[in-house]
Amino acid sequence: MSDVIHELVIVGSGPAGYTAGIYAARAQLAPVLYEGSVTAGGALMNTTEVENFPGFPDAIIGPDLMDKLKAQAEKFGSILVRDDIVEMKLQGDVKTLVDGSGNTLQAKAVILATGSAYKEIGLENEKRLSGRGVSWCATCDGFFFRNQEIAVVGGGDSAMEEATFLTRFASKVVVIHRRDSLRASKIMVERAQTNPKIEFLWNTEVIDVLGAENVTGLKLRNTVDGSESERAFTGLFVAIGHSPRSELLVGQVELDDEGYVKVQGRSTHTNLSGVFACGDLVDHTYRQAITAAGSGCQAALDAERFLAGH
Ligand code: NAP
Repeated sequence: MSDVIHELVIVGSGPAGYTAGIYAARAQLAPVLYEGSVTAGGALMNTTEVENFPGFPDAIIGPDLMDKLKAQAEKFGSILVRDDIVEMKLQGDVKTLVDGSGNTLQAKAVILATGSAYKEIGLENEKRLSGRGVSWCATCDGFFFRNQEIAVVGGGDSAMEEATFLTRFASKVVVIHRRDSLRASKIMVERAQTNPKIEFLWNTEVIDVLGAENVTGLKLRNTVDGSESERAFTGLFVAIGHSPRSELLVGQVELDDEGYVKVQGRSTHTNLSGVFACGDLVDHTYRQAITAAGSGCQAALDAERFLAGH
């Protein structure tokens, strides 16, 4: 372990982490920003066009937006590390973090911005056939389903976005939703509902994924009358939301019942002095790129004030 005690380590690199990096670097804190080994850039790396990030009236591709935020963080002096933090001790005045390569770092302040991970339906065969027809990322895997009939589960913006994107490849996309109304925003619903390749299967849940080597179909249950049926599909895209990535924080930072980090009031202060949290890791409600970026800014300002006072 080096004797260096960094002012600030930022863990996570979505819009929240990079924005915290931009602000902290401009405050001359020389933040060390752990981007993640495979998850660098966060959830937006798996999206296509982002139409609602202010400043881009003609939309911007998710990974391009993240490249810009990353470049901006780096330009002002953030030290980017493409690795994971695998262990943290966050109590006390000096925090200790261990990365995936075995390096131990010390810091006076830490910003947690680890975002969220895709939710699974929770079926045994969903896991077994993951990568063999079951996917959580249309932009990554859509290409493999040319001229095939595939299903998307979910009724939120993610499901509408995935379904619409998948019509570029698939012959038909069936959105399977457990209720009879969608939670997605009006514009996304309209786009999906007017797409001739998209069919909606209402009041339906997936109770099994069928197939020996690859997905061949789904077993479905009607949530109103309980009747069961099977339907042939070669792909299943699961788009049912996200859970906060707070596994490493259990027992250290105060979390709520769903695993989100609790922050004090409108600030990004956690229950531990010198530890701040932002982005999807704290946000039940909004979970937008722009709100995550805003809270990353708040976290950097909170950390800067904390460090100035110590
Ligand atoms: P979400 O809004 O939480 O929607 C999740 C959907 O999955 C809901 O329709 C829910 O059904 C369903 N669901 C949850 N658990 C399920 C289960 N176990 N089995 C079957 N269905 C299940 O999540 P999201 O769509 O990922 O969106 C998250 C946030 O990101 C939202 O704030 C959204 O606006 C934002 N987002 C924005 C964009 C964009 O603007 N371009 C794109 C993607 C996401 P119920 O409706 O019955 O609860």
